[in-house]
Amino acid sequence: MVHADLCDLDALCDALEMSREIGAQHAFGEWRKRHVTPGSDANTPDAVSEFARRSVGTYHHQVGACPMDVDELAVVDPQLRVRGMAGLRVPDASIMPVVPSADTNAPSTMVGEEAADLING
Ligand SMILES: Cc1cc2nc3c(=O)[nH]c(=O)nc-3n(C[C@H](O)[C@H](O)[C@H](O)COP(=O)(O)OP(=O)(O)OC[C@H]3O[C@@H](n4cnc5c(N)ncnc54)[C@H](O)[C@@H]3O)c2cc1C
Repeated sequence: MVHADLCDLDALCDALEMSREIGAQHAFGEWRKRHVTPGSDANTPDAVSEFARRSVGTYHHQVGACPMDVDELAVVDPQLRVRGMAGLRVPDASIMPVVPSADTNAPSTMVGEEAADLING
């Protein structure tokens, strides 16, 4: 999970820098007054990273507590069966290997429907 956290932080810092570049474009000159957040004094990678760490929240799309994968370290296999335990499947958002790029309720329902099909054969 440490690796995923660092990827997230890198992506957030890149997004911050990109947002600054976009906001600084000539086309926005008419609307732009001053640089507010994270502030023009946050001008080093460490300062941007510190701002990102302080500012983010988890929001509502926590997934992947027991991710599905094909390797033996995955908690569940692609049929949603818990590895090393007979007769137990996990049919919810916790099996998602990554956070989907959309809201998670519909994907969770799809996981449940897929599980029902798998159980019913
Ligand atoms: C505030 C909020 C707003 C959200 N808004 C949206 C949105 O607008 N659109 C969207 O797509 N997604 C939204 N989501 C995300 C979405 O609700 C979840 O992704 C989805 O509900 C996950 O489904 P799930 O079945 O994995 O878990 P859950 O829906 O959390 O279901 C888990 C169930 O297990 C039960 N349970 C827990 N422990 C036990 C136990 N020991 N024994 C028996 N039962 C137990 C719980 O009571 C619960 O009913 C939101 C989430 C939150 C928290």
